[in-house]
Amino acid sequence: MKKLYAVLGDPIGHSMSPVMLNDLFSFYQKDAHYLPFQVKAEDLGSAVKGLKAIGAGGFNVTIPHKSNIIPFLDGVDELAASIGAVNTVVNEDGSLIGYNTDGPGFLKGINTIVPMVSEQRILMIGAGGAARAIYFTMAKEKPLVLDIANRTLETAAKLIEDCPYDSSSRALSLKEASENIGEYDLIIQTTMIGMSPKMAEQPLNLDNLRKQSFVCDIIYNPLETQFLHAAALKGARIQNGINMFVYQGALAFEKWTGFFPDVQRMRNNVLVQLGGNPC
Ligand code: NAP
Repeated sequence: MKKLYAVLGDPIGHSMSPVMLNDLFSFYQKDAHYLPFQVKAEDLGSAVKGLKAIGAGGFNVTIPHKSNIIPFLDGVDELAASIGAVNTVVNEDGSLIGYNTDGPGFLKGINTIVPMVSEQRILMIGAGGAARAIYFTMAKEKPLVLDIANRTLETAAKLIEDCPYDSSSRALSLKEASENIGEYDLIIQTTMIGMSPKMAEQPLNLDNLRKQSFVCDIIYNPLETQFLHAAALKGARIQNGINMFVYQGALAFEKWTGFFPDVQRMRNNVLVQLGGNPC
């Protein structure tokens, strides 16, 4: 019988996961289908109960339910529990177990260019939900430096305080980070600045960026934000958010099927959905 997989969010119409995941299920000849469901916060518990009752193989969770889903699950793995957010749920013999593949997905995405995070001096910009998953995952890798710059300093300080892995991080203002940006090897932009309607903006100035730096922006629409454009003009290597999106999906697929899929196929699928050219 066909297995059901799903993504729960509100809104959900923009999600590229159904096309990407259905292509994988079909390519690997899995008798499964992946559907998007728009679920209001007050209906989240009933939706999870329903998916469990009908024996869904698993599901993804997206904005705004990544934290609120936790009380409705039977268990949560250690990383997702420390982050306090779940994006992937696996039906393990009738128990719904939550995982977070956002941070590990980001890490896998940059590992193609930066294999040893432990040798990096890292600056993260932003301290929201996505930043939290990335920060905890990075801190676990014990980089040389892992600082956070955020508009609201207290939020960055709270993120550092919440992290279970020792990191000796500093919370910086955007101005301080901009002045000292030359100290970092890897810069990770996690705010929504650069997306519509803030497409012409960037969170901080890159005048002092070294050309040896590697600059990531987790935004993938547009494919090149103003921030990445400015970094490329300084001669730095750049990476957009497609890798993170693709690898978080690949890790979810692996948890559901035991099989790590072809990420280049996934990347091309996403590029086509975004109106870009497959490579
Ligand atoms: P979020 O929780 O709302 O966090 C927003 C962050 O942006 C906070 O640090 C906030 O700073 C900062 N910010 C917002 N407006 C700002 C402004 N005008 N000036 C300076 N800083 C500002 O959002 P999120 O869920 O983490 O998502 C952030 C971005 O990541 C979105 O663009 C999303 O599409 C992208 N994302 C990509 C992937 C992927 O797979 N590639 C996955 C998840 C998210 P304050 O603390 O000062 O408010």
